[in-house]
Amino acid sequence: MPSTVTAAEITKAIRNVPDFPQTGIQFKDITPVLADARLFAGAIELLTANFQPGSIDAVVGIDARGFIFAAAAATKLQAGFIPVRKKGKLPYQTIEQDYALEYGHATVAMHTDALQPGARVLLVDDLLATGGTSGAAASLVRKLGGDIRETVFLIELKFLDGRRHLKGFPVRSIVEY
Ligand code: AMP
Repeated sequence: MPSTVTAAEITKAIRNVPDFPQTGIQFKDITPVLADARLFAGAIELLTANFQPGSIDAVVGIDARGFIFAAAAATKLQAGFIPVRKKGKLPYQTIEQDYALEYGHATVAMHTDALQPGARVLLVDDLLATGGTSGAAASLVRKLGGDIRETVFLIELKFLDGRRHLKGFPVRSIVEY
């Protein structure tokens, strides 16, 4: 039963891959969680725990692993799914937001008509690290008039203090390192 899955079980399934994609990064591989039907369903239960079906209009997911969790959360909450993609991938008119990386910068984009003003939004990604990506995504949602009810992550790397980019929004994570 999905509701019996604990954060500890998810922690156990997450595979740490040292030095991927570059030296010094401890990559948190969530594919073992996805491959286990019970853990995957349990992860979605935990991510959506604060909301009833019908209380969220749109689940916004972040490119690329965030899509997996956000899409499943959307069907559970009977909400739409909206992608935040890396620049250059969305076919229609977009709004874009730049954000800083350790070296250089990156840009995320959303379709200009992705959200109705006032839409109740749950923002989902697999992992909160420095917070640059989700901070940029949150700022796009806000520009489109979305009302972010929560930003939720399966994993949070606490020591990177990503929450500083999400000030003013409720932030929650299931597994912390
Ligand atoms: P950040 O903008 O630093 O919060 O980075 C968050 C994004 O990068 C997320 O979408 C993650 O998928 C990915 N990411 C960053 N660090 C890691 C890590 N150690 N393991 C797996 N994914 C990561």
